[in-house]
Amino acid sequence: MLQNKIPNKDWLVFDDTPSIRDTSNDVALPLSSENELVMQKLIDFVRYSQNPQKNHQQTIRPAVGLAAPQIGDNIKMYYIRIEDTDNETGLKQVIEHAMINPVIIGKSAQLACIEEGEGCLSVDGDKEGFVPRSFRIIISGYDYLKQQQVTITARSYEAIVFQHEQEHLEGKLYYDLINKKNPWLKIPDWIIL
Ligand SMILES: [Zn+2]
Repeated sequence: MLQNKIPNKDWLVFDDTPSIRDTSNDVALPLSSENELVMQKLIDFVRYSQNPQKNHQQTIRPAVGLAAPQIGDNIKMYYIRIEDTDNETGLKQVIEHAMINPVIIGKSAQLACIEEGEGCLSVDGDKEGFVPRSFRIIISGYDYLKQQQVTITARSYEAIVFQHEQEHLEGKLYYDLINKKNPWLKIPDWIIL
């Protein structure tokens, strides 16, 4: 029993499973105990994946986000955890969002990509190429950690992570956005992060 509670690869749904391409359903609030467990699993998985002591053998790849369809529940939930160092103070900060029924309500026309491309726990082996996304987004939804409705403006790397997870709720994967003919084709207007 205990073994099942330790996050492991068996929790994950990969891109060879059709449900990863399904659109997710809205989640009723307040959360049912069943759905609360799904959120808790998302949080546990990502935190565990980033913990160098617990995950020292890297049995799972370190991840900054995980969406419910990736653990087999097609409901609108994801969890994001980004560790960042403040450029001015040098202090480490942690950005966490445990989103329920998130909606992107604004997007910048300015696009940005991560220099080395993206990866995903549901995609074994990275697919190379630029993944163009909005540099800035405004997102609204219920934050499980704050237990309230929130509206967030995210920029740069945080905005990219939000869009990656949000698209899991629409059955989309990051490599859908990579230019098929020339994966590393750089459009001059893009910001490369
Ligand atoms: Zn992903």
